[in-house]
Amino acid sequence: MTKRNIVAAGAAAVAAIAMVASGPGLANHSWNGYHWQTVSGTATPLVVDNTVGAWKPRVALAMQDWNQSQHIDSQLTTGTTNQKRCAMTQGTIQVCNASYGQTGWLGIASISLSGGHIVAGSTKLNDTYFALQQYNTETWKQLVTCQEIGHDYGLGHQNEDFSTDLTTSCMEYTSQPSGNEHPDSHDYQQLAAIYNHGEGGSSTSGGSSGGPGKGKPLGIEPGNGPAEWGKAIGHDKAGRPNEYVRNFNGYTIITHVTWAPHVKVPEVRH
Ligand SMILES: [Zn+2]
Ligand SMILES: [Zn+2]
Repeated sequence: MTKRNIVAAGAAAVAAIAMVASGPGLANHSWNGYHWQTVSGTATPLVVDNTVGAWKPRVALAMQDWNQSQHIDSQLTTGTTNQKRCAMTQGTIQVCNASYGQTGWLGIASISLSGGHIVAGSTKLNDTYFALQQYNTETWKQLVTCQEIGHDYGLGHQNEDFSTDLTTSCMEYTSQPSGNEHPDSHDYQQLAAIYNHGEGGSSTSGGSSGGPGKGKPLGIEPGNGPAEWGKAIGHDKAGRPNEYVRNFNGYTIITHVTWAPHVKVPEVRH
């Protein structure tokens, strides 16, 4: 193997290759196999940072972390502020912060699926809860920023029990966020497993970043609560619904929720 030329990959990604080559044995924490269409195994959605103030360096740090993966190569660009709705745009991951109110969640990540692939992602960060003393820390804010963007690339959680702290990954539910501000080696290994194939084509005609129509608004808003997210399809260790699905305009929209640990999750009525 000649990996010396892979400057950005770093030790973690090289380890990831070795793990994949050596076969299974890791807990799978992909998000149901959801992934961006790629030409040759590298996801390149444009990350649009619509946040303000101190969120911007957190988004930049999270993207520096995720781009360490050999299978992610995303440009980060500045969007427009006051994008509270954080509407989906093809070929992009939109990142937004706002005071979303007493929604119960610190952050949510939504993806739009079409033709078996992620075509758009959205991450919302809720200042209403990050203003509370127990969440008003860099560790909490960095963990949630890292986790929601990680979902938008197709990762799930390594651990869904808020009462434990089993990993050093941001892809974990925990009430002890210190040390969980970044991806860990399992996350990079999982990305390598998810993006172990390309669909061919070229980045101009193909779907390296969501296919033709990149930048097209999809008219899809992630919403702020179960009534807009759709049907609950996943639950955390405590039985709280944390994943929802709905269909809209030919797209399947799936939302992952990071409830504030102290909050009682609103009942879902159907
Ligand atoms: Zn694929
Ligand atoms: Zn999550």
